[in-house]
Amino acid sequence: MVPFKVERMVVVACSNHDFGKQVRAVCKVGCIGCRACTKVTDLFTMLDNLPQIDYGKYDPQSMEPLEAVIAKCPMKRVLFIGRPSPKDVVAVAGEKVPGVVRDTFDSTVDKADWHG
Ligand code: SF4
Repeated sequence: MVPFKVERMVVVACSNHDFGKQVRAVCKVGCIGCRACTKVTDLFTMLDNLPQIDYGKYDPQSMEPLEAVIAKCPMKRVLFIGRPSPKDVVAVAGEKVPGVVRDTFDSTVDKADWHG
């Protein structure tokens, strides 16, 4: 397990188990289940069309494979949470905080083609 005293940790920031076409119909940022992350490192495995991170193997001192995964993910769903790095703070220093985004409560169920 990763101890809670770790300041930054990589997560898969999505909980959608649907396939790419259904995800893209309702969400601009959801994981599309492309498996690119699983091809970079064995930390990631697919479970029910969503990547899982094996935190038993997670080493906060070895970030190279994780940075490669972050670069590969087409939807930018693999990301660090926690304390921003000094480089991150500098990168967003001039940005304004965006307004509140309201959920439309669309779901893949609403737009699915049902057969049978
Ligand atoms: S690379 Fe990104 S979009 Fe593709 S399965 Fe992994 S988390 Fe999902």
